[in-house]
Amino acid sequence: MAEKIHTLVIGGGQAGVAASTHLKRRGVPVLVLERARIAERWRSERWDNLVANGPAWHDRFPDAKFDDCDPDEFPTKERIADYFVDFAKAEDLPIRTGVEVTKLERDGAGFRATTSQGVIEAENVVVATGPFQKPLIPTVVTDPSITQMHSNGYRNPEALPAGAVLVVGAGASGSQIAEELARAGRKVYLSLGPHDRPPRRYRGQDFVWWLGKLGKWDAKAPDPGTEHITIAVSGAYGGHTMDFRRLAAQGITLLGRAGTYDKGVLSVAPDLKTNIENGDRNFLSVLEEADAYVTAQGLDLPEEREAHVLGPLPDCVTNPVLSLNLKEAGISAIIWATGFKPDFGWIDIDLFRADGRPRHTDGVSEVPGLYFVGLPWLSCRGSAFIWGAWKDAERLAGVIAAKP
Ligand SMILES: Cc1cc2nc3c(=O)[nH]c(=O)nc-3n(C[C@H](O)[C@H](O)[C@H](O)COP(=O)(O)OP(=O)(O)OC[C@H]3O[C@@H](n4cnc5c(N)ncnc54)[C@H](O)[C@@H]3O)c2cc1C
Repeated sequence: MAEKIHTLVIGGGQAGVAASTHLKRRGVPVLVLERARIAERWRSERWDNLVANGPAWHDRFPDAKFDDCDPDEFPTKERIADYFVDFAKAEDLPIRTGVEVTKLERDGAGFRATTSQGVIEAENVVVATGPFQKPLIPTVVTDPSITQMHSNGYRNPEALPAGAVLVVGAGASGSQIAEELARAGRKVYLSLGPHDRPPRRYRGQDFVWWLGKLGKWDAKAPDPGTEHITIAVSGAYGGHTMDFRRLAAQGITLLGRAGTYDKGVLSVAPDLKTNIENGDRNFLSVLEEADAYVTAQGLDLPEEREAHVLGPLPDCVTNPVLSLNLKEAGISAIIWATGFKPDFGWIDIDLFRADGRPRHTDGVSEVPGLYFVGLPWLSCRGSAFIWGAWKDAERLAGVIAAKP
């Protein structure tokens, strides 16, 4: 006979931990199934030296501090995973690890989950399987002598073959990996597209503080197709602004967007200068909005006029490489930091758009009893981040608890 539970949460990352906490606190009978370990992706799908993008005072659940970290420190990925394990223990959450849900389907008014350990029937299901599920690699480079991996498979510079490295994508992952490789003495090519690059700190406050004050974390999703914002930001080395001029000065050759590959040559779009200038515009606009906020609120924060002065564009931007012969450049490895796509193939319910994302309103899907938490822009820009998933989970638990 199938096991029955009122509400099944699928996935035991931060979103699943948050969802089950709020459901349990409201007295909703809940079970979490996690195919691996709690917060597995922080353990095994991130590089060794990754630290949080936000400081410890911010990138956490409101109910629990990182008690062994300075609030302004950027916790390591292992520390973050431990944080969720400790939190789940303290809340005594019913998380069953090592159980994968292989199929989810409707069953009358409820749901039937086929798992690696039998069948579970549930009245409600909360899907918390992650915002970043399947690696996305846009270009095919057919050269067996070049080691290729997605950023979720990159671990450290030593694990790559000797030689130059091409990093494609300059969001938080690509720009940080490129910098790490350059600091390790590698020749690095970094291909970048349109991006935002907020200041790490301005007028004494971290950018996560500014995004909160300026209402950007709560921003609703813009038009479909423009949900994804590539943000070049880093907490590494104590946290500093991702300034591509600095990376160029460290010896990194910046490139425009990677195009097609043919017979050993990668074409590169002539958009590098535009991308850098738009990123600069974004950087300066945050400073200006912050200044306006300081004035409007009459805050006493130290002036930082020098932050508005950007240096000259580096030579690799003004004289860009438009085609890269990988062999001639000595490239032995390519890291595709090109993002992720959804992977809901195991949900056998007619609910998904052509791009693979579920149809929902703020996490409440079109199918009664089926909810999503932790997805990018679920209800707002903060939704895929630690505290944002917490807020969405709290609201969704209220919706589930109030169901007749
Ligand atoms: C490189 C990187 C750095 C990031 N840094 C930060 C940061 O500093 N601060 C921040 O707030 N956010 C950060 N994020 C964003 C976000 O916090 C993380 O992606 C986080 O892992 C998302 O948590 P989640 O619980 O929603 O999903 P995940 O961590 O992906 O957890 C989903 C869980 O579901 C399990 N699962 C999946 N499918 C099934 C199934 N069918 N059955 C059972 N279990 C299943 C997985 O094993 C996994 O444990 C970062 C993201 C990346 C990629």
